[in-house]
Amino acid sequence: MNDYEIPKEFYSFETDTPFERCIECNKYLLDEETEYIIEKAVKNYKGYSAKDTVFDYAICLDCAEVMRKGISKESWESMMKYFQENMDVMTRLEMQDQSPDKSIRSCMVKKTNVEDCPEYQIYAHCKGEKLNMENPPYMISGEVMEELLPLLSDKTIDEMNGFIHKHFSPDPSIMEPVPPRIILV
Ligand SMILES: [Zn+2]
Repeated sequence: MNDYEIPKEFYSFETDTPFERCIECNKYLLDEETEYIIEKAVKNYKGYSAKDTVFDYAICLDCAEVMRKGISKESWESMMKYFQENMDVMTRLEMQDQSPDKSIRSCMVKKTNVEDCPEYQIYAHCKGEKLNMENPPYMISGEVMEELLPLLSDKTIDEMNGFIHKHFSPDPSIMEPVPPRIILV
């Protein structure tokens, strides 16, 4: 497995530099051994190069674990089942060996090219200033988000909304429709 730097797509929209702090506990993330997740939701305008970052953040694994516990068991299982049924294991394994730039250019499930996705989310599992390629970065199209949403319980959706509102208020316009967050660690 190769060592990869964190692609610029995962830089903080606000600073255009790598994320340095956990959004929940403010832990410093760029120490060599520190693992964390970056998630970014993007809006794309077909035919234009401009993109909007709906939200982006980095979260340490401890805080990610706490959040994961807030997701109901049923929701978690439904999401896992969805990925098992809609994605072949080989795709994920192949991604460990392909360049991260390539991995986030198309939807991990639908294979849709990023330019053809009006909305999408990208995820990276990082360790200090590098990617953790055991869990390679990926992109999920808005289409997949829409399929996942009905699988989630109200409790889970409340939990996700709570997180989004806590960190990304006060612009209510970006809250519609509810952007589901999924952490696959
Ligand atoms: Zn944290």
